[in-house]
Amino acid sequence: MQIIMLGAPGTGKGTQGKLLSKHLKIPNISTGDILRSAVKQKSDLGKKASEFMDAGELVPDVVMIGIVRDRLMEADCKKGFILDGFPRTVPQAEALDKLLSKECAEIDFVIALDVSQSKLITRLTSRRVCSACRKDYNMLTNPPAADMICSFCGGIISQRSDDDETTVKKRLQVYENKTAPLRKYYENQSKLRHVSGIGSIDEVQGKIREILSNT
Ligand code: AMP
Repeated sequence: MQIIMLGAPGTGKGTQGKLLSKHLKIPNISTGDILRSAVKQKSDLGKKASEFMDAGELVPDVVMIGIVRDRLMEADCKKGFILDGFPRTVPQAEALDKLLSKECAEIDFVIALDVSQSKLITRLTSRRVCSACRKDYNMLTNPPAADMICSFCGGIISQRSDDDETTVKKRLQVYENKTAPLRKYYENQSKLRHVSGIGSIDEVQGKIREILSNT
């Protein structure tokens, strides 16, 4: 099964995609994670990408399409995959369709996670992430221990550099301008399924699985 998790930053795409990936036993591919790991390694890609990421802007389409094309060619994607954070523009979606059609494949479902803008700003600015295992915490709803050490792996928990309020507002604006049009794009292909991103992680996951098993 080929699935896209679509939603503004902070809607829970990553969390839900990872859970679904375990359930369906297919990889969850987060383009944000791929880029953050390149930034950490200080590779050429990382150096190029960090300028865009820190400004809350999108990394150019040509770069992102190349990354995803290479990743989808890996053996673990043969049985399907979940895309988290890609596509983010109509040209990326068109390139993905083209890429898959060469393999006689296509996207099965696009799960659109809906959360209001004001909730997203609070969620994102209070989000903290383990720098080692990438587990998400939230200062309001799921706070880490006072020493900011991850209870799962012992890594250091910190705030993503693009989760400060100014960058968050910029990212949400970029989402509305560049990524939201994808809802129409996938609606026209009858692949879009809306899910409210409000509720506990398990509740939202339950709604997603229900949609996948009913369609
Ligand atoms: P995310 O973790 O998905 O919120 O992504 C973090 C940042 O990585 C975004 O704000 C963009 O700068 C960049 N990024 C991730 N995926 C894409 C993409 N598909 N197209 C362009 N930029 C991306």
